[in-house]
Amino acid sequence: MNLYERTQAVLPSWLAIYYDEPIELTHGTGRHVWDADGNRYLDFFGGILTTMTEHALPAVTEAVAAQAAKIIHSSTLYLNRPMVDLCEEIAAIAAIPDAKVFLTTSGTEANDAALLLASARNGANQVLAMRNSYHGRSFSTVGITGNSAWSPTSLSPFQTFYVHGGQRYRSPFAHLPDDEFVAACVADLRDVLDQTGGPIAALIAEPIQGVGGFTSGPDGLLGAFAEVLRERDILWISDEVQTGWGRTGEHFWGWQAHCADHPGVTPDIVTFAKGVGNGLSMGGVIAPASIMDNLPANSISTFGGSPITSAGALANLRHLREHDLQGNVAKVGPILLDGLRALRDDGTAPAVGDVRGKGLMIGVELVEPASGTPGRPAPKTANAALEGCRERRLLIGKGGLHGNVLRIAPPLSLTTDEAHEGLAVLSDVLREVS
Ligand code: PLP
Repeated sequence: MNLYERTQAVLPSWLAIYYDEPIELTHGTGRHVWDADGNRYLDFFGGILTTMTEHALPAVTEAVAAQAAKIIHSSTLYLNRPMVDLCEEIAAIAAIPDAKVFLTTSGTEANDAALLLASARNGANQVLAMRNSYHGRSFSTVGITGNSAWSPTSLSPFQTFYVHGGQRYRSPFAHLPDDEFVAACVADLRDVLDQTGGPIAALIAEPIQGVGGFTSGPDGLLGAFAEVLRERDILWISDEVQTGWGRTGEHFWGWQAHCADHPGVTPDIVTFAKGVGNGLSMGGVIAPASIMDNLPANSISTFGGSPITSAGALANLRHLREHDLQGNVAKVGPILLDGLRALRDDGTAPAVGDVRGKGLMIGVELVEPASGTPGRPAPKTANAALEGCRERRLLIGKGGLHGNVLRIAPPLSLTTDEAHEGLAVLSDVLREVS
């Protein structure tokens, strides 16, 4: 049996694996990875936005090796210097007041902890989430995920109400200018709130939806929501699992684009994962002491913030900041975004219905050509584009409610040359599949 057959035999069938002929990535360096047949790929997906700085970053490898040689695990029962070092660093750049940090092993677990904190505060089992959202794979997080493809059960510890505003291209408010779009979504939020009885724990939202296909409402939308939530004493959880650490180029956190015109407004809880560990199992929750310290029972995470993952994440984060990778994103991101928008507009790739995103988080929604606006979703075309890029040695991702959105999210250290190289491949492939 080859590795794919062994995978199918021993792993669950619901693990989605890319490509008609799946590939095994054996090693990487910088923005490149190699498969088991020795093919080299330019990596525009970073293992789902997780290789954030670069593959085989020496600072991370050295920090992990040095820590592994000392102690790999101790648990939260003992003082853990790398964990405290990392949490202090994160709290200092959290941009929310009086920040405390709790480390987990994944984004799912971070969101789960955030929901627990919010619900413990007022005893509520009601949650607001965005349509088209994704927040994880656990029982609690599939219950707040507004995407049937990723939510295998309707049973949930929460009663969830989904509000408008997470995506624009297929929104009933798509035709509205930014300010009217925001006003329509705020009216929808108020309408939903008026229909619910009893307390609501929180609204959870991704500043740019990841699995949903790199979609968002206009800047300022979540800040406008936050004003309403404050009136009703409902917390705002910002899920920064994909948008944090400078990926959008313009801000360090995705939520900051939503609060520029709302002075003093910040999320009450921020969750993170993926990129912080550059591939090490690391996630977490940031919240003020008044929320973080409020659990009425003990809680631990055996592996969360282990010495080894904390040491690696700290080295990764320091590298990111010392090399101003957010600044790099602001420089190279527009090469891709502007180039893909030009392709959409020049008519040579009529399957490109929408190009959107920020920084190095760019979505290309594929539609049936000449099927109007919004166009009919074209998931097969998206699949063909994924395969076409792979043939030309470019790895990208896919997503969206209809599986018809290409997701482009290279490591934040992408060079100008690599951006041009990837854009050329994408343009060729998109013309071809159109
Ligand atoms: N939240 C968002 C926005 C995500 O994109 C993901 C994963 O894709 C998660 C949470 C869950 O993270 P994990 O897969 O680490 O559990």
